[in-house]
Parts: sequence; C-alpha cells; structure tokens
Amino acid sequence: MPALSRRQALKATVLGTGALLQTPMRAEAAVKGAEPHLKMKYDHDVLIVGGGPAGLSAGMTLGRMLRSALICDDSRPRNAPSEHLNNFPTREGIHPAEWRKEARKNLGKYDTIQFADATVLSVERRNEGGFIAELSTGARQTFSRVILADGVQDRLPSAPGFKELWGKAVFHCPFCHGYEARGLALGTVANGAMAAHALPMHFGLTQDLILFTNGKADLPVELREAIDRRKVQLVESPIRELLHEGTVLKAVALEDGRIIKRDALFAAPVPPFETKSKLGEMLGCEKTELGLFKVNEMNETTVKGVYAAGDNMTRQHSVLHASGHGVTAGAGIVSDMLHGEFMR
Ligand SMILES: Cc1cc2nc3c(=O)[nH]c(=O)nc-3n(C[C@H](O)[C@H](O)[C@H](O)COP(=O)(O)OP(=O)(O)OC[C@H]3O[C@@H](n4cnc5c(N)ncnc54)[C@H](O)[C@@H]3O)c2cc1C
Repeated sequence: MPALSRRQALKATVLGTGALLQTPMRAEAAVKGAEPHLKMKYDHDVLIVGGGPAGLSAGMTLGRMLRSALICDDSRPRNAPSEHLNNFPTREGIHPAEWRKEARKNLGKYDTIQFADATVLSVERRNEGGFIAELSTGARQTFSRVILADGVQDRLPSAPGFKELWGKAVFHCPFCHGYEARGLALGTVANGAMAAHALPMHFGLTQDLILFTNGKADLPVELREAIDRRKVQLVESPIRELLHEGTVLKAVALEDGRIIKRDALFAAPVPPFETKSKLGEMLGCEKTELGLFKVNEMNETTVKGVYAAGDNMTRQHSVLHASGHGVTAGAGIVSDMLHGEFMR
C-alpha cells in the first residue's frame, strides 16, 4: 500500500482501508456517514451553479468547513473577453482565465469540493426535502442547498464593432478599465439616468469626453446644464459602426455620416439585468426591479435553501464583490446547516 495522505489516513482510520477503493463521491458519503451528526442524505450538501468568482469563493468557504459542494460551470464567465483583471490587490492585471485556473487549483485542497464542467439544466425542490438537479451530462443529483452564482448577461448595442471590442476598447466599468484609459479620447455610450450616473465618472478620467446617446437624447435637465458648462460634446445620431483595427478602436461612425475619432468607449449595461440561467425563475426566487435576486443578509433568496451570489444579486459588478458575496452565501449555508444539525 503506498503512503497515505492525511485525509486518506483519516478515512482509513475511521472506515478501514476498503474505503480508499471506493469512488470519490461514495468515499465522501462514507466519511460523512461515519460522523453521526453529519449524516449524508444528499449526493452533495450544496449545488453551486457557476464557477466564476462568486461560485468559486462560495465553494472555498464551504470546503473549509467540511461541507461538500458540486460546482457546475459551463464556461461563460462575464470577463472572458478581457485580457486583464484589474482592481484586485495581489492579482492586479492577471488574465481572467488564469485567475479562475488558480482559484480552481486552490480549491483542489478541499476533498469535499467537486467540479462538473456542465450546464445545470434544471433544479427542483423535492417533496422529501432538498433539491434535485439535472446536468447536461445527464447526471441527476440531490443537494440540501443551492447557490445561484450564474452571473448576468451583457446586452451590447447592436452596431457592428461593439461585440468585437467588448472588454478590449469598449468597457462596462471605469473602475475595472478606466485607469488604463486615463487621458485618452473617450466616449460614454449612454442615455437617460445611466448617462447621468456614468458621465461624471468618465469625466474624472479625461476631459476629452463625448456623450453618445445613440438616438435622441433624454437627459435630466441638470445633466444637460453640466454638459454645457463642462463643454462635453453631445452626439445624438445613432451609431452605425465602430471602426477598428483588430482590437484597437479608431473611430465611431454615425448614421448621419460623421466619423468621430475615439480611443475607447464605456457602455455600461442598462438594467434590468438578465441572469445567465433561468434556474432562479424555475425555483420561484423573487427579483428586484433591477432584475437582481432579492436576498437577506446571508444572501438567501426568497426561496428557503436557495442562495444567490455575485453579479446576479448586486449592482456592484466586480470580481471582489462577487467573491465576497460568494463567501457570505457559503457562510450562511454552513451556519444554517451546522446549527440545525447540532440542535437536532
Ligand atoms: C468585459 C468585462 C471585463 C471585466 N473586468 C473586470 C475587472 O478587471 N475587474 C473586476 O473586478 N471586474 C471585472 N468585470 C466584472 C466581473 O467580471 C464580474 O463582476 C464577475 O465576473 C462576476 O462574477 P460572478 O461569479 O457573479 O459571475 P461570472 O463571472 O459571470 O460567472 C458565472 C458563471 O456561471 C456559469 N453559469 C451560468 N449559468 C450556468 C448553468 N446553468 N450551469 C452551469 N454554469 C452556469 C457561467 O458559465 C459563468 O462561468 C468585468 C466584466 C466585463 C463584462
């Protein structure tokens, strides 16, 4: 018999060496079964839908408290188009895919956490308790709790160029990409309340700023006055196309024939937000008028046992916020489960 890891040694002590020959999931269930107060009634304690910052951080929090979780991810992370992850101390500028890879590697130390590179097609509450989920692999598994960390979809203006330049020269957020664009010829693509919110932020990065309302302007009076005072150009003509060379923006081509040179644009997503899956609706979770899940202070949604974390429940769309909310959801579940089990 080769040398055993500490975890294997623990399994062998508790269950006998035969337990080491079982499949990982069965072995996990067997270890749980050996601890009388932690009876394993489900395939996993928690289903985590989404392996972005929110889901991965929730998984780590659960793993550190010996809870089991299956993190399902179908590789549609929000920041995928971007080359750099910014505003994250210690990981400044890292490639987002590299960040996810490292996070997964970190999670490898927690035996109770498993991954499935699959889409969660459905989740339903079971009459006998907990939830049952169907995966795109065909697997059907049961869980005590669910964390929805499925993120939100970006809806871009339809003109050619927005999709190609998204995350490269067209950005959603000045905190994530503004510093690198400071002092450049910038444009804010927004109208109405979103323009009033976004324009002053972008003006903090450059005074060479144009507001593209991409159609007739519908702006609050105070914003119009401030725009005049600050000499920000207002362009109402619809955008025909973004002219670019590779991922470098050259100019904005307008329906009225004008071509306006710009280095980068900000096009913040306009609420209501749309989650990447319909699982929340399937489960009956209520949403706010912004399209975000309603949650309590531990990120439990309006459906008992279903938690939400990340972009789908906050307007603060950043990796650190998503991670923080993942930790909150994970901790909420740990606390709920352990208190319940201890008191029973
Ligand atoms: C272009 C761009 C660049 C950005 N750059 C930065 C930056 O530099 N710094 C920063 O702090 N923030 C940045 N952000 C914001 C940041 O990406 C998000 O706030 C963060 O990714 C949210 O994390 P999340 O876990 O909630 O969602 P996501 O990262 O979107 O992850 C959700 C995951 O859930 C999976 N999923 C959804 N439905 C299912 C299902 N049914 N089954 C299985 N899996 C499913 C998806 O495949 C996806 O991987 C950027 C955003 C964009 C759009």
